[in-house]
Amino acid sequence: MDESKSLNFIEQIIEEDLESGRHSTITTRFPPEPNGYLHLGHAKSICLNFGLAERYNGTCNLRFDDTNPEKEDVEYVDSIKEDVKWLGFNWNGEAHYASDYFDQLYEFAVELIKSGHAYIDDQTVDEMSTSRGTPTRPGKESPFRDRSVEENLELLEGMKSGEFAEGTRVLRAKIDMASPNMHMRDPVLYRIKHAEHHRTGATWFIYPTYDFAHGQSDSIEKVTHSLCTLEFEVHRPLYNWMIETLQIYPSRQIEFARLNLTYTVLSKRKLLQLVEEKRVTGWDDPRMPTISGIRRRGYTPNSIRNFADKIGIAKRDNLIDVALLEHSVREDLNKKSWRKLGILDPIKLIISNFPEDKIEYMQGINNPEDESAGKREIPFSKELYIERSDFMEDPPKKFFRLGPGREVRLKFAYIVQCVDFKKNSQGEIAEVHCTYDPATRSGSDTTGKKVKGTLGWVSAEHSIDAEIRLYDRLFLTEDLGAVDDDFKNHLNPKSLEVIESAKVESSLESATPGDQFQFERQGYFIVDNDSSEGKLVFNRTVSLRDNWAKGKP
Ligand code: ATP
Ligand code: MG
Repeated sequence: MDESKSLNFIEQIIEEDLESGRHSTITTRFPPEPNGYLHLGHAKSICLNFGLAERYNGTCNLRFDDTNPEKEDVEYVDSIKEDVKWLGFNWNGEAHYASDYFDQLYEFAVELIKSGHAYIDDQTVDEMSTSRGTPTRPGKESPFRDRSVEENLELLEGMKSGEFAEGTRVLRAKIDMASPNMHMRDPVLYRIKHAEHHRTGATWFIYPTYDFAHGQSDSIEKVTHSLCTLEFEVHRPLYNWMIETLQIYPSRQIEFARLNLTYTVLSKRKLLQLVEEKRVTGWDDPRMPTISGIRRRGYTPNSIRNFADKIGIAKRDNLIDVALLEHSVREDLNKKSWRKLGILDPIKLIISNFPEDKIEYMQGINNPEDESAGKREIPFSKELYIERSDFMEDPPKKFFRLGPGREVRLKFAYIVQCVDFKKNSQGEIAEVHCTYDPATRSGSDTTGKKVKGTLGWVSAEHSIDAEIRLYDRLFLTEDLGAVDDDFKNHLNPKSLEVIESAKVESSLESATPGDQFQFERQGYFIVDNDSSEGKLVFNRTVSLRDNWAKGKP
């Protein structure tokens, strides 16, 4: 973290707590529910929680909030661990699970009953929801509210041992049915669920609610600062009520604004729909805003951490421009990526005065940002491929690429002049014919000739075939939080373009999945897992054009 930056409001609270001696060290936690893959919003929370622990020499726990057995799965647990590690963070000790505390939470429930702060309610779900009232109308107390401690304990025991059907009873806190805060109107603490849990198996027939499990787990772990998103602000009085009533370790809940990104959906529930309805190829589809998706797309941990740092922490909801995220990854890849020549939509360029069987080796600079990356040899021959869009039959004046009579430099090689072109039977350009000037070779050009355009190329004979996947935004609408209709109506039908027959330079022959490159003038690319023997597949991480840097996102 940049020390010169002013402290955000959470850092201020922490520094006060450390200075006043309220805490000698801090403990935070990242508490995902294992019901889906993590997305960029979670990345913000991870960077915040783990980042604060790093900054203040404290610790951060990874705790799975696994209290909804029907929706949870070990597949998600594994992916979440992988994603946190990939971002470069280490949790304190073993991963924790709310389910580790099921016995302790049950003890808390018994205590609440004994002190007259909880009761078993036999009302139906509908009855309970009607008697809860509305924000402007107080609720009605349940007819079961004044059951004896003995009866409550007996019924809770019965619920625990599976004697009652699902939905017949719940345990509720006894707080205030007239509270202006709906969460304080006798909230449900335990519900009956005859479901197998991915960790506790068939041991339990009751499961704690979020409000009962989350705060108490914080307290059991002696979390000093429990950071969550703004929608939990209204839960805070209940969080504190539990701590005071049970007289347990006083963790402090602090809310911050969630990450909202333009053109992006950040909700596991909605992302799950995209996966289940096969609108994308899976959780790790490179168009998905999941951590596994952006990893496959070629985003780096560094770019995500820098992004999180740049957007900062606020108390009010806002909408961040996705261009800032793209800017972060360009900035990181620009420093690290080796440059390669690659042609996405090839047309032949034939150099008529270049000897038939001659191969020359050109010196390619691997990374102009990093001299230690050195150079490579790129074979150059009579027949090359160039980008179709780099030639125009009748170009306007400001088109600094090829057209009849025009001159350009071929990157790392010679200046060529277009002398002719040929079309195929469909009227498309099939071949561009040029002559070259041997005295203009890059690095030893004696002519002093200046041309405006430099084009990428590959040698036809030496280049290798590749499939290239170009991704565009998954949604066409900027602020998806503001739409009233189904978010899936806003999907971009052209979010994926597959180029089957691109040509890339021969040095990529040894590339393996995960390798990242910049194709000169095209963008940043990563070799995808779908690559096989003899067929490279590249994902475009991001194009080179950066509107953010120009100040007009
Ligand atoms: P979703 O709404 O996508 O299902 P969630 O909040 O239900 O997300 P959890 O697994 O409960 O998902 O979240 C784990 C942590 O990540 C919580 O502390 C939550 O506040 C935080 N988090 C989730 N979404 C965002 C977001 N968009 N921005 C910042 N933090 C987030
Ligand atoms: Mg949640």
